[in-house]
Amino acid sequence: MTHLALVTGANRGIGLEIVRQLAARGVRAVIAARDIVKGLAAAGQLKAPGLDVSVVTLDVSRAESITRVVAHVESKFGPIDILVNNAAILIDGPGGFDASLFDLTPETMRATFETNLIGPLELIRAVVPGMCQRGYGRVVNVSSAAGQLAHMDMGFPGYRMSKSALNALTCIAAAEVARDGVDIKINAVDPGWVRTDMGGPDAARSVEQGAETAVWLATLPADGPTGGFFRDKKSIAW
Ligand code: NAP
Repeated sequence: MTHLALVTGANRGIGLEIVRQLAARGVRAVIAARDIVKGLAAAGQLKAPGLDVSVVTLDVSRAESITRVVAHVESKFGPIDILVNNAAILIDGPGGFDASLFDLTPETMRATFETNLIGPLELIRAVVPGMCQRGYGRVVNVSSAAGQLAHMDMGFPGYRMSKSALNALTCIAAAEVARDGVDIKINAVDPGWVRTDMGGPDAARSVEQGAETAVWLATLPADGPTGGFFRDKKSIAW
């Protein structure tokens, strides 16, 4: 059976590569992009090899639009079997790893949480009940080592807290669906430090490497893990 995947923030970076790798495995992939022109251009890059890729407009920071967009996707393409919450922003600053908690404004914190946490939460709330009814689903929350409480440090405070919260969301959602005994896996992934607009040119990993574990989690077999946090297909500390 061909599965349908919705990948947010998929017009560039790791998200676009997740779409490419899923489509290469025979998954019907939908690029969700907040700018339809960028989304169509990204899909155009992938069309050449004959991959099954479509595009929808979705700004994940507009929580009120998410139910409508999910209904539109499901009426046009069919039920969403795989949800990849990839879109995120990193707007702490100035100073990057030196960005201080004491410079973090409520506006930055709110904007970061709207995109990095509330968007994924609303997508899970819109998509997972249908997965439960159908008895199958895979949800991948693209998190970060920056959100690991086990190694919490200073720098990027708003981004770090948003990814820690995304990890908590992963655990809570996985625990809720596990009660139903259905084949639904909800996991978080740290892609590592990846050469994208967010990661910068000096990052250690290619987008291919950065997408690999997310794609593995998106296509897990029925006996695969759920409620975990993974890097390089191995469990890591929260
Ligand atoms: P990126 O190159 O900055 O791409 C981010 C993507 O998210 C873009 O497509 C962007 O769309 C989209 N986006 C941002 N806000 C959005 C919104 N409100 N609605 C819809 N789409 C939105 O980032 P990346 O490096 O590929 O990162 C992908 C994921 O990996 C993120 O969750 C990030 O936190 C995580 N991550 C990355 C690294 C790294 O080293 N790169 C490390 C750890 C974790 P526009 O083009 O419209 O801006």
